[in-house]
Amino acid sequence: MSFRREPNPNRNHPTHCPYCAGEDLYPNELSDFAWKCHECLRIFEVKFYGQDAPEQAPAPAKSTEQAYQESLAKHGYTEVLRKERHNDQR
Ligand SMILES: [Zn+2]
Repeated sequence: MSFRREPNPNRNHPTHCPYCAGEDLYPNELSDFAWKCHECLRIFEVKFYGQDAPEQAPAPAKSTEQAYQESLAKHGYTEVLRKERHNDQR
């Protein structure tokens, strides 16, 4: 299993203590992911491990120019298509 994103302490914070459902939570200095409940005095961690990588990733998006050129070619506007980049640079 590989993750696309590493755990990040700045993402998703608990709104309730998992032990007493208290809402008086504060970040704790024990770790970047630790929270202290001031109602039951428990310290716990909430860590978002990331998303699992999909089996098939979508193809990378085309650049605006590339998509525009393909659209022009698809609709038959071949006379306004740009030539290859190496022909434009002189
Ligand atoms: Zn609590």
